[in-house]
Amino acid sequence: MISAHTKFIVIIGDPVNHSLSPSMHNACYKQLGLSEQYVYLAARTNVTDVEHVVQAMRAMDNFHGLTCTQPHKVEVMGHLDWIDSHALAIGAVNTVVKRDGKLKGYNTDWIGVSRSFEKHGIGLSEKRALVLGAGGASRAVIYGLKRKGSKVTVFNRSIDKARLLGEEFECDVLTELTSSTISKFDILFNATPLGMHPYETESPLPQGLIQAHHVVFDAIYAPKETVFIKEALHVGATVIYGWEMLIHQGFSQFELYTGMKPPLDVMEQILLN
Ligand code: NAP
Repeated sequence: MISAHTKFIVIIGDPVNHSLSPSMHNACYKQLGLSEQYVYLAARTNVTDVEHVVQAMRAMDNFHGLTCTQPHKVEVMGHLDWIDSHALAIGAVNTVVKRDGKLKGYNTDWIGVSRSFEKHGIGLSEKRALVLGAGGASRAVIYGLKRKGSKVTVFNRSIDKARLLGEEFECDVLTELTSSTISKFDILFNATPLGMHPYETESPLPQGLIQAHHVVFDAIYAPKETVFIKEALHVGATVIYGWEMLIHQGFSQFELYTGMKPPLDVMEQILLN
C-alpha cells in the first residue's frame, strides 16, 4: 500500500520501543482506508538529535508529522515555526504537523486528560484535585484540570519542584499526605511512575487514604491496573485508567495529522490487547 506519495509520521523518544502509538495509528489508517496516504513509524532518538530530526522534517516533503515523548517534548519547542497557546502554557509539545511548509507544534496530553473525564460524565468545574508528581505529565494534567475549572493542589517528593510548579500554574502545594487532607479532595491524579516498572508494587499514596467519593486517575497505562487503581476499585472509588488518557490524546493527534476522526474502538482494541 505504501507508495512514493505516502506521508510519514514518526514518534521519537529515548527509549521509544515500548510505544503503542505506531500500532494504534496504523490500525486506524487501515480501518479508514488511509494506509496508502499515511504510515506511522517509531525511531529512538537522542535528545541532542531532536534538532536534526526537525531539519529532516523540513527537508523531506513526505515527512508530515512528528510525535515527541519526554524529554523531547521540551527540546523540540526551540526548533518550530509556530506553537499553539496551550502547548506554550504547558511548556511542552508532543505533536508537530507540517502545514504549508511550516512546522506547527501542539500539546494533546491535556486534551487526553479533559476528554477522559468528559467520557466518564465527570464535570471538572469547582472540583478539588490533587496531582501527585511535578514532572512533564503533571504540567499537562494541571493545565487540563485548571482549564476546565478545577482547583488544583500539587504534591511531590521534591517539595521545591512542587512549589515552582505551584507558582507557575497558581496551584496550592501539599506537603503531607494524611487521611484528613486527602479526604477533602474530589480527584486524586497519579502523575508519577509509582505503579509501573520498576515500581510495580508501589503507590503514590500511603495505603488506606482513598475513599469511595474519590475519582482516582492514574496516568500509568502499563500495567493497566496499578496498586493505586486496585485500591481505588477495592474501596468503590470511580476509576479512570491511563490508557484512556493515551487514547484521547492519540485521538486528537490523529485529527491534527489527517484532519479525520479515528475509530475509537480500533484504538481501544490495540491498546487493551
Ligand atoms: P517525569 O517528568 O520524570 O516526572 C516524574 C514525577 O514523578 C516527578 O515529579 C518525580 O519527582 C516523581 N517521581 C519519580 N520517581 C518517584 C519515586 N520513586 N517516588 C516518588 N515520586 C517519584 O515523568 P512524566 O513524563 O511526568 O511521567 C509521569 C508518569 O505519567 C509516567 O508514569 C508516564 O508513563 C505517565 N504518562 C502517561 C501518559 C498517558 O497518556 N497516559 C502521558 C504522559 C505520561 P521528583 O521531582 O522528585 O523527581
